[in-house]
Amino acid sequence: MRVNTAFNRILAIEGTLVDSVAFTDEGLVLTVRRRARTHRCPCGRRVRGRYDASTRRWRHLDFGTCRVLLEASIARVACPRCRRVRTEAVPWARDGARFTRDFEDMIAWLAQRMDKTSVARLLRTSWKSVDRAITRVVDEHLDTARLDHLYRIGVDEISYRKGRKFLTVVADHDTGDVVWVATGKSEESLASFFDLLGPERASQLEAVTMDGSKAFRGATAKAAPNAKICLDPFHIIKWASEALDLVFRAERFEFLTHANLAARSNAPWTAARFALRRAKEKLTPADQKMLAAMRRERLNVHRAWLLKEELRDLFRVIEPAKASAYLRRWITRARRSGITPMINLAKRLEAHTDRIIAGIELGLSNSRLEGTNAKIRVIQRRGYGYHHPNALAATIYLCCGGITVTLPTRR
Ligand SMILES: [Zn+2]
Repeated sequence: MRVNTAFNRILAIEGTLVDSVAFTDEGLVLTVRRRARTHRCPCGRRVRGRYDASTRRWRHLDFGTCRVLLEASIARVACPRCRRVRTEAVPWARDGARFTRDFEDMIAWLAQRMDKTSVARLLRTSWKSVDRAITRVVDEHLDTARLDHLYRIGVDEISYRKGRKFLTVVADHDTGDVVWVATGKSEESLASFFDLLGPERASQLEAVTMDGSKAFRGATAKAAPNAKICLDPFHIIKWASEALDLVFRAERFEFLTHANLAARSNAPWTAARFALRRAKEKLTPADQKMLAAMRRERLNVHRAWLLKEELRDLFRVIEPAKASAYLRRWITRARRSGITPMINLAKRLEAHTDRIIAGIELGLSNSRLEGTNAKIRVIQRRGYGYHHPNALAATIYLCCGGITVTLPTRR
């Protein structure tokens, strides 16, 4: 078998021929060319003749431990349809890329499953290059049709840059997929989503869930007047956990000086905090002992914990028809508890009662979006795009947007 034939088989990129092979300091360089005689503009139009040409290299999948680069002459063409000079499209790479399509797909597939540092190290490239590859793969896969059948959506803000900057994220309740991401958390941020959606598709919206934000509420009321505005259950539980945390902080000295409590763990403070945050059905025997001790000592934190769990029940076990009465009774109990953070929580929930009940009645209490939100937090913790909102947005689309990347080795 001739060497070029062998490399053609290994490369297996349709419409591409290997002309020559050379070992260089940078790795194995395969000089390739397109099989087609005519050039193709990125718009799809075939163009005869070229404006000018240059030589470019694209990083490809490694052969074993050997770095591989494709080298080819790439032309610029004067496209009659685009009415300007553009760099031609090549079969082995996306427009503007310095990596081959196979290499970028490998990056994206891995980035859906592991942190960016590991991807960059495994493929011997940089964070920035990983970001660029992800952005291009997402641009190619993101389908505008994803906005066509939205009926129940959730809007949320996520923070980056140490909580000083925000992204607005819109997800589909029925699939759990993120359908839109943009910077900011203002009324305008969400309004730009509704602009993209257009009045016809916005009128299909049955419900929009969100946190207590007035900005999101304003934008939704304007653009989708038919949609019911609901409060996301996981935001309510988050508020309850924050209130419980305040109660715990206020009592922590009292709690820590109880020798019988402190003796149960080396780090009673952290352990107690985790026990309080955990759902009651997931408590460990040690957590249960700790809570029993808090109860014996008649600490406020125990009563606050009970209130948090009763509030969780509203979304887990209470029948929707009984939810309204249950919530009202809960608010009364919390207001009478004498525990300031719980009283404040009760006031907050009272102001949102209609929106909380609307969410339960529409069956949005077991929200898939909670899972999506958790996934986004993992992406952030992995260190994605802290300083680059666009890279963070692209990674959110890649991991939560229902995008399927096919590995080059599985085609
Ligand atoms: Zn064109």
